[in-house]
Amino acid sequence: MSGSTIMPMMSPETPDAIRQRLFALLNGQGAALYGGERVTQLEHALQSAAIAEASGERPAMILASLLHDVGHFFEAEFEQALSSTFDTRHEHMGSRYLSRWLDSEVTEPIRLHVEAKRYLCAVHPDYLTTLSQASIHSLAVQGGPMGAEEIAIFESRPFSSEAVRLRQYDDQAKIVGMKSPDLAHFLSLIR
Ligand code: FE
Repeated sequence: MSGSTIMPMMSPETPDAIRQRLFALLNGQGAALYGGERVTQLEHALQSAAIAEASGERPAMILASLLHDVGHFFEAEFEQALSSTFDTRHEHMGSRYLSRWLDSEVTEPIRLHVEAKRYLCAVHPDYLTTLSQASIHSLAVQGGPMGAEEIAIFESRPFSSEAVRLRQYDDQAKIVGMKSPDLAHFLSLIR
């Protein structure tokens, strides 16, 4: 399997149906939402995937980068959720939603990408200074930097290094005016 098989065997939907569903989600709600950043969620998703691709990642990680924030789209009041003091755990909602169709090599980095931020803040203190205001706000709601025990547990998990890489693409993907390949380009990785 040349690094291109993304779907688990038991999925009842065709790759084409899944691509259409995700296209509608990202292109609809994603194009309308900002969430405290200067780019829309669709732009943020495309930039994350483009940066992952340019970094030489395999298809699963490019898709994980594209889809890492879809959990936000299921929050009733997304903009408020991001500025609130309540953590909606969007990483769990997103990975659970996608796991109906996609393998753990896509869904696990997504599920762990918020913990990866807490991890990076703990092991690389300079990392905190690179975060956007919205990210710093959500960090506090998400529990702040990890403690020593949490660091050890995180490092022992499968896909934790992928989650850290995804996090780094995520953090960069907030560039106003950046040109990225389109949604169809990245969704074609689902086959
Ligand atoms: Fe993100």
